Amino acid sequence: MAEEAKGTLKYLKAENIFIETSYENSNPPLENISIDDEGVCNIFQRFEEGASSGYSFHLNVAFINENLKPSRIKLRIHWGETEYDFCRDYMYVGYDSGTAWRMITIPCDKSISEFEIIVPRGRHLLCCSPKFDNGDYRLLLEKYQDTPNFKIMEIAETPEKRKISCFKLGAGNGNKVIITTRAHGYETSGAYCIKGLLADFVRNSQEYEEFLRKYQLYIFPMLNPDAVAAGNCCISTSGVNFGKDLGDKHSHLKDKTTKTLTEFIMHLKPAYYLDMHNNTGPHLADSFRSNSLELLEIFSVLAPDMSVQQKMWNIYKKDFNSERLMVMCHEKFSTDYMLTEFPWYCRLPEDMEEFGIKFFRTLFKIF
Ligand SMILES: [Zn+2]
Repeated sequence: MAEEAKGTLKYLKAENIFIETSYENSNPPLENISIDDEGVCNIFQRFEEGASSGYSFHLNVAFINENLKPSRIKLRIHWGETEYDFCRDYMYVGYDSGTAWRMITIPCDKSISEFEIIVPRGRHLLCCSPKFDNGDYRLLLEKYQDTPNFKIMEIAETPEKRKISCFKLGAGNGNKVIITTRAHGYETSGAYCIKGLLADFVRNSQEYEEFLRKYQLYIFPMLNPDAVAAGNCCISTSGVNFGKDLGDKHSHLKDKTTKTLTEFIMHLKPAYYLDMHNNTGPHLADSFRSNSLELLEIFSVLAPDMSVQQKMWNIYKKDFNSERLMVMCHEKFSTDYMLTEFPWYCRLPEDMEEFGIKFFRTLFKIF
């Protein structure tokens, strides 16, 4: 076992494979990783202050194999005392630093996952779900910056000086629809669904023409970029849980970003507000919740069949804590709010994008 330095970066080395965690979105830091006498790479959970203990493990570690042949690495992940989470049974290997992904099954005894993976030549990632980091977010903004009818608006700046932008689509004074995702840094499925939707808008623009004459969409693909950069699951680096506290007056004391975002959204007086999350379990259900029984009833009739992706719908009424921004919008403007939780299990990024298109097409039919 050796800790080596390459330039300013530090690496651990096991069985000729370098282990790297000093990049944006990585977790845990290198000090939580050690190689034992048997050459096993032990990874220990980093607890996230302010997040519930069962919801604070985000794995994003890079393996660099500079050998000419694939190499094998033995891993032991220590999940600590936290409540068992389904993500321990499955992980994703991101080949070529995350341009292609494979889901692998992992034997897990609840508190420890012990397994081996084969690392091809090059740099590859091991994650609990396919990453969508600030680099991916910037690429998405760049991709559509000159697209006709796509307006990119910078709404707020984070304490660490990252921009929170939204795509504005749709004309006139139509009803406003707000779509947010990545309130929680590690929940990447919503970002992939939005990526699919944006591509569908361009590919099949005629099919959305009527909808976009009636509605204005404000789509936020990355609500909490500081948490993503820090490799946090849940909490921003200034201590705000964007999933729960966005409209809460106490969060304004913690950072100006939540105040600016809250004011922008309240100013829009949205007719609909969808916040996309991604719980790591249960794996077999895509959940859709709303305060509106009418919306739920129609959605349950029209919901796309996702059984080939090993999913059934879990559709139910849910009222949230009054301090949530979506609830504040409902109380002031009768906004119908919705929250989704789409798990990764049995899905690759392209499956999630395709599912996003199906989901949004269904939803927009109901509005
Ligand atoms: Zn969440």
